[in-house]
Amino acid sequence: NSNEILETLQALIKENHLEDKVDANKVGCFGFCSQGPFVKVLPEDTLYRMVKVEDAKEIIEKDIIGGEIVERLLYVDPQTKEKVKKQDDITFYKKQVRIALHGCGTINPEKIEETLGVGSFKGLERALHMKQEDVIKEVLDSGLRGRGGGGFPTGRKWQFAFAQQNDEKYVVCNGDEGDPGAFMDRSILEGNPIAVIEGMMIAGYAIGAKNGYFYVRAEYPIAVERLKIAIKQAEELGLLGDNIMGTDFSFRCHLRLGAGAFVCGEETALLNSIEGQRGMPRPRPPFPAVKGLWGKPTIINNVETLATVPYILREGAAKFAAYGTEKSKGTKVFALGGKVNNVGLVEVPMGTTLRELIYDIGGGIPNGKKFKAIQTGGPSGGCLTVDDLDAAIDYDNLIARGSMMGSGGAIVMDEDNCMVDVAKFYMEFICDESCGKCSPCRIGTKRMLEILTRITEGKGTMQDLEDLEELAQAVKANSLCGLGQTSANPIVSTMSKFKDEYLAHIVDKK
Ligand code: SF4
Repeated sequence: NSNEILETLQALIKENHLEDKVDANKVGCFGFCSQGPFVKVLPEDTLYRMVKVEDAKEIIEKDIIGGEIVERLLYVDPQTKEKVKKQDDITFYKKQVRIALHGCGTINPEKIEETLGVGSFKGLERALHMKQEDVIKEVLDSGLRGRGGGGFPTGRKWQFAFAQQNDEKYVVCNGDEGDPGAFMDRSILEGNPIAVIEGMMIAGYAIGAKNGYFYVRAEYPIAVERLKIAIKQAEELGLLGDNIMGTDFSFRCHLRLGAGAFVCGEETALLNSIEGQRGMPRPRPPFPAVKGLWGKPTIINNVETLATVPYILREGAAKFAAYGTEKSKGTKVFALGGKVNNVGLVEVPMGTTLRELIYDIGGGIPNGKKFKAIQTGGPSGGCLTVDDLDAAIDYDNLIARGSMMGSGGAIVMDEDNCMVDVAKFYMEFICDESCGKCSPCRIGTKRMLEILTRITEGKGTMQDLEDLEELAQAVKANSLCGLGQTSANPIVSTMSKFKDEYLAHIVDKK
């Protein structure tokens, strides 16, 4: 694994007395999961992929000492069959723009000086010389919308909290990423935790908060550890604490670990959990911006949203808004998985088409199979089909086509996948994760799962299909929180686009 490769490289550097000239350093995720682990040689910018521990010797002897490229470890373009030396020349990376992933795969996330070297805290520095209203305006002008799934304008959320008269306000970072197949937040926290801290501090300054809470899944031990290290190092440098950068602004970061309940990604359940209560949603209103953590005005932004904020303040709203579509600005990180050649984490400008995502960046479908669908938005989302391949990815466009952006999970299905099985998979997940507070979700999702199970076992009836549609509407209309309200989306979407697959399982069809 990567740690062993690093240790071997370090030992070889020592053995060959190269310590004065060469340093082997760990970095965060490169994003191209299916080709990892990677070793990058700088300043030549040579990227070696699928490196094994036993390759370390050859890299040191041939490349570092001999100045020759280890050809067999270079990425081979599947189309041209040519070897590609530089990361930026690999098709997977060519269409990507890394804003939220800035620094990930480049810097050592456990050394704050490296993140300072790529511009960290420059956004905060600029913000601290602006009026709070102007910082909020900059974020509004950027068009940034919540990357956790809701797509609510981030600046508007900040405006509501800023307008509250209260001595105590909070910023909460939602790192309770739980969608099956999604790992955007984890990768950002592991790759550049300081960017998220800086985003949180800018938010804190803008709304008048002195304390920020990270809520991160305990199942992400590396992210948690790196966040702890980053907070400690920022405190030691005086970048967290009192009178930051010689101003009146004081801010402290706190860390809370989630115990793995999907519903705690819902912001009011998350607040309950931080307060030490059972992680169950609260009715809204009041909204957290008015009455949130311990009854105080609170903004909750997800990891990717906060990681994007420093760029907006550092580079300016206009530069960020130059990417994207009319109503969805900037970039979005997707965890591209399932039946696609290039599995990994990708960040693309809004407006990129699904075809570009799946075929150019994702390298198409393995084994010459046909593309059938892509599920976006996780268990709350829906599937998009061949008819949607040339659709531009943005919040509104995906909703109009029967799915949603969600937090960024993107699972590709090929011709072998049964879409009823797909719907059942997500419903099983939702049944497990329903907190049980309200009966439409607690009972309705169970009944829907029973029906789906019957159908997939070949025992379903036409009445089952009608019941499924009716239940889907009832659960959507009457559930308390987003988890229940969106729980039937995978059913509704697969039934509308792949009705023939449902009918194929039915016993009494005419
Ligand atoms: Fe809990 Fe589901 Fe009701 Fe949300 S909709 S409060 S998850 S039972």
